[in-house]
Amino acid sequence: MEDLMGYAYYTVTRADGIEIEAGYAVEAVCEQDGCTEPIDRGVDNLCGSWPGTPDDGCGGYFCSRHLGYRDWESEEPQPENCKSCFEKRD
Ligand SMILES: [Zn+2]
Ligand SMILES: [Zn+2]
Repeated sequence: MEDLMGYAYYTVTRADGIEIEAGYAVEAVCEQDGCTEPIDRGVDNLCGSWPGTPDDGCGGYFCSRHLGYRDWESEEPQPENCKSCFEKRD
């Protein structure tokens, strides 16, 4: 996988087949229902390990209040997830 940390702008295809703009230069709003926090679509705000269709997240973008769910007791490296993805994990 490419290191996308430094990428300001790119497009990815989500699981629903829709191509979206992503990257830290892309302005967006947190995807949590009811949240209007402005964010960018950098990987820092991404649910899962990589943009588009990660197998460990939904590929959505969330503000710091709605991302960062993870099992803090695990020693394994883990992606940050939104609440609904975290609750689906076992
Ligand atoms: Zn998610
Ligand atoms: Zn939010």
